[in-house]
Order: sequence, then C-alpha cells, then structure tokens
Amino acid sequence: MEEFLKQAQQVGIINESYNYIIGNLDFHSFDLEEYKYSEANITSFRMFSPEQPNMQNLLNSIDYTDVEEIFRNGSCPITMEMALTFDAVQLFAETLKHHSLRAIGVSCSKNNDNVLEDGSSFRNYMRSMDIQNKTLTGRIFFDGYVRKGYTFDVIELQPSGIVKVGSWNQNDGFSAQRLAPTKSQFDNVDNLLADKTFTILLSVSNKPYASVVESHQMLEGNNRYEGYGVDLIKELADKLGFNYTFMNGGNDYGTFDKNTNKSTGMLKDIIEGTADLIVTDLTITSERQEAVDFSTPFMSLGIAILYVKPQKSKPALFSFMDPFSKEVWWFLGLTYLGVSLSFFILGRLSPTEWDNPFPCVEEPTELENQFTIGNSLWFTTGALLQQGSEIAPKAWSTRLVASIWWFFTLIIVSSYTANLAAFLTIEKPTSLIDNVQDLANNKGGVTYGAKRSGSTRNFFLTSKDPLYKKMNDFMTNNPDLLTDSNENGVELVKKGVKYAFLMESTSIEYNTMRECGLRKLGDALDEKVYGIAMRKKWPYADKLNQAILELQEQGALAKLKNKWWNEVGAGLCSSKEEPPDASALNMENLKGVYLVLVVGSTLAIIYGVTSWLIYVISKARVYHLPIKDAFIEEFRIVTDLQTYTRELKSSASVYSVSKSSSLSSAVSSQALQTRRKLKT
Ligand code: GLU
Repeated sequence: MEEFLKQAQQVGIINESYNYIIGNLDFHSFDLEEYKYSEANITSFRMFSPEQPNMQNLLNSIDYTDVEEIFRNGSCPITMEMALTFDAVQLFAETLKHHSLRAIGVSCSKNNDNVLEDGSSFRNYMRSMDIQNKTLTGRIFFDGYVRKGYTFDVIELQPSGIVKVGSWNQNDGFSAQRLAPTKSQFDNVDNLLADKTFTILLSVSNKPYASVVESHQMLEGNNRYEGYGVDLIKELADKLGFNYTFMNGGNDYGTFDKNTNKSTGMLKDIIEGTADLIVTDLTITSERQEAVDFSTPFMSLGIAILYVKPQKSKPALFSFMDPFSKEVWWFLGLTYLGVSLSFFILGRLSPTEWDNPFPCVEEPTELENQFTIGNSLWFTTGALLQQGSEIAPKAWSTRLVASIWWFFTLIIVSSYTANLAAFLTIEKPTSLIDNVQDLANNKGGVTYGAKRSGSTRNFFLTSKDPLYKKMNDFMTNNPDLLTDSNENGVELVKKGVKYAFLMESTSIEYNTMRECGLRKLGDALDEKVYGIAMRKKWPYADKLNQAILELQEQGALAKLKNKWWNEVGAGLCSSKEEPPDASALNMENLKGVYLVLVVGSTLAIIYGVTSWLIYVISKARVYHLPIKDAFIEEFRIVTDLQTYTRELKSSASVYSVSKSSSLSSAVSSQALQTRRKLKT
C-alpha cells in the first residue's frame, strides 16, 4: 500500500480530484508526511482508537526514545496484528481465570502428540467469554467461531495528519464524528472582495506554476488548470472570498517601454484592463513596475545555469598515471635519483663495500666496489618495481638506506595499487563547463540561451558587468539560441547538443528533480522575486498583500512549494549517492613516508661519513701517517669516479711502497687478511 501511494503520487493522481478508500487496516501506521497536503480525499479504517485508555496505557508503558517522531501527524505505531495479538492474550488470560488448564509437558520432538485432553472444553469456554475492559480492539465475544463486537474508526488524512471522522460497529452502523467547522472559513472575508470576480492570467504550459490537468473527463472552467499559481489563487480566494476565472495568457509575460509607452504580452492585458491579475513565475522588475503594480513577493530566486549532468569520459591513454598527482610523480623521480646517489656515495665511502672481485683468488691484487652509478640505479629500480637485483649491500650505511627505500617503495606501490583500483572502477564523469566563466568563453563549444522575452534575457541586456555583457553579445548574435518558453529551453538542454540554458533557480530546481540527466550549474547570478501583477492603484492591492503575508506566516506558501516541487510528479530521480570520487594522491597524502625516507637516508649518510672518517683516522694511526695525508689519499680514491677498483699490493710490498700511494691498499689488504683469519 505504501508503494502504491508513492507511485500514485508520482503519476500525479493524488490530488483534490481523487478520492481513495484504503482497505489496509494499518494505514494509520504508515509515514504519510508526503501526502498530507495533497488535498486528495483519503479515507481508511482502523480497528482501535489510539485515544482509548487501554491503548494509552500500553503506549505509555513502551519506552520510546523519540515519541514525537513515532506519533508524528497523529499516526500510531501499533499495527492491527499487534493489537489483535494483545487481545488474544487478554482473552486467553481471562478464560484461564474461570477455567483451569492442566499443564502438560511439551516436548519438541517431531512425534510429540501430547494433546491436552481438556483443550476443546477450554476452547469452548473461551468462545463463551465476553470481555471488553482490557482489550484494544473493543468488545470480544463469539458468534460460533466468529469474533464479534469490534468497532472501526473511520479515519481521514488531513494536513494535520490522521483525523478520526467517524466510527462503525455492527449494531449501530456508521456514525460520523466530523467536527462541524465552528467558524466558517469565510469569516475573515472582507466584504469588499467577497462578491468580486477577477480574471487571472496564467501561463498554462509552464509547470509547476500552471498546466492543463490531464484527465479523461472533459474539464471545464477553472478545473482545467492546476499548479502552484492555481493553488495560490485558491488560497487567496479562500481568505478573501473573491471569485476568479483563469485565462491562458501565453508565454510572453511582457515588457514595458517607457520611451514609447508601449507594453507587450500579459502586461498589456493588465494595462488595458482585459485581465486583473497575472499569476505565474513573473519576476518583479523596475521596468515592469513602471507599468503595473506588484503584490508582496511570494517566492525568491536567482538566475542559474541548467546543463546536463557530467558525462562519463573515455579512459585516457595514460590513465595509469592518474593515481598520483604530477607533483608526486616528480618527487618520486627526484627521490629515485637521490637514493641512487646515496647508494653510490655510501658505497664508495664504506670500506666494507670494497670487496674481492674473485673470491677464488685468495690473494687479490685489487678490490672492487659494486655500487657503480649503473648498479646503484639498477638496485634502486629493482626495489621500486618490487623486483630483486643481484646487488646486495654489505655495509651498515648502505643497508640502512636499502631498508628505508624498500619500506618507502612498499608504501608507494601499495598506495598506487589501491588508488589505481579506485580509478579503474570509477569512470570519473567530466563536464565541458563548470561555471559561468566557462559558459561565457564557450568552453568545449558549449552554446547557451535564455527565454527570449523574459527577465533573464533582460538581466543580460541591461548588465554592466563585462562578463554578462559578453554573454549578452553572444545571445544577441545568436537569436536562434533563445527560446519562447522555459520548456523549450529544457528540451534543448536535454537533447545534449552542447547547449546550456540560463534559467531561474526555482524552475531549474523543479526540472532537475524530474529530469534526472539535468543539473544546476554554479551559483545564482542575481537575486530577485516573483510577485502577482495588477493594475496600477488596484483598489484591492492592500487586502491581497495582507493575505499573501498571512499565507507566508502560516507556512502555507512553503507547503504549496513543497507540494508542487517535491511531491507532485517528483521522486523520479533516485537519490542514489553519487559514486565516490577517486582523486589522485598528492604530497599531502604521502608526506609521512617521504619524511621517513629523508630522515633514514640522512642518518645513513651521517653514519657512512662518520665510519669513513673513523676508518681514515685508524688507518693513519696504524701506519703512523699524518691524518691529513690519509684523508687526502682516501678522498682521492672515493672521488675518483672513473674507477671502481682499488689496487691491493701484496702484504710484503705494503711496507716498501711509498706511503702516499699505497696507503689505502695496505689497509685494505690488512682488512682482507683479518677477515680471512676470522673465517678460518
Ligand atoms: N520569470 C521570467 C519573467 O518574468 C521568465 C523566465 C525567465 O526569463 O527566465 O519574465
């Protein structure tokens, strides 16, 4: 039933022309918020009255956390099934008071045929009971096997919620309890307007303000039209008591040229006296105000852009780059080079990385360093791509950099993979234009227009803003892009021919709730209001303004807007959440891991340089050399980027060669010998 009501509303058959009798006895428990103002006559029944003391006691004993929400609009959360179950238990309990029941053991096994022998006599006794005081659904007694004595509440859905309008029981039949209006709705009527009839102009192909009622019947007179404007006049007429005749004024609301003193469109009809009021999406403008008077505004709005929703774009050729921002890719490249360089430098600095190139040769004449420029780059590449390389760092400093780099690549590669998955599953929608600047520049070849004779077009015609002037020139040079009505504009946008329509925000709101492929783009360009136009010095203007203000204060205008925008024919576009947006990871997301890398590499370099200095000093001590000489010799070897080998003289010759040329070789040779000793 709830689904039925929802769909009936979507196809626009929940309105004042329809009467519904709902047979579902749980109608009172539905959420009826959306139908309250529909003016449809919706009647239903319920088997109990929530105001009855037993029900009140029961409701009070239930601990509802949000009572207000549950009992919203007079609805009641107790369903018929609950009430009948409650009563069945009451009847059983009452019967037990008069007829004892011998309890027998009950087993859950399948073959359990333990049947109470006196069950049927208990049941018969139960059928002879007549109880009333403790039940929710009224008196309970039986006629044969049929329960009797129930009463139905006749309920109606009204703007205030569910209201009991009568009751029915078998004995007395239907009795109406509708409260007779204590005060006639015309009590407030000002006699001045009470017997007047006004001709009111509508623009009848202009939803939701006015449109022709779609009906299989031949409708006549005012019944032919429906919409916000129609309802607004009905409300005002109820308050002021006047009569009215609607007339279709077409799509041209009209302009006034004070130079020629000529007016056009509906405005002309008012000035000439062929009509009394214009009720539509008529913007109050200074130019129109010179020719006619306007009532107090009943709606506020601004010009905005109606455009198609972003379309899914084809994946780009280099979309694999998307998971990281440009900045991250640049930093990654620089880090890669920086880390390779650290390997190269630390490799040369640490004595442990100078090793015997031919392990089979027991007495090598030279030592080799594996961290050449090429090998350093290769090792870093291998780790970055989660692969290995033959190179294995041996010194603590190079090992520390390697560990930090492995950790860094692990995080980077995992982040890349995770974000790539998001990018592959989400086709990011793209839009050719995003704001009014893009539109003014015809970005992506998007053209635009507005209603030819409306206040929107006039806004651009009179604007001093360079951007809007530019847009005005474009529209003046392309008159075929202007439309006769908002409806035609919407159709053009829907066709998807790279066309945007400048339209008032209220109409955009209405259309985007029904045309799921459309959306409002950017903020409103201006602020303005709609009003009812009338002849200058119209004698009833004050009364009309007063009534509009009262409707505003009573919330009636908001209700009307809600009805025509959010209820009638709305709800077609699923409010499904927009798919999550996948965005490229930037440095902000990865700065932690970069920090770890920088700190780790710095520590490794400090360690590498310190151990190198210690090595140079100890070398100078062992050979009783000036530290400076030892330092110069080692520095030369380290900075000689051409060679990756250092000569190693035989231990005998170590002491005979000149100290400056063979210093390092001697120490390396000694280191080698020490290592060999350790091995054996
Ligand atoms: N509200 C406008 C008017 O009064 C019509 C619609 C428009 O120009 O966008 O003329």
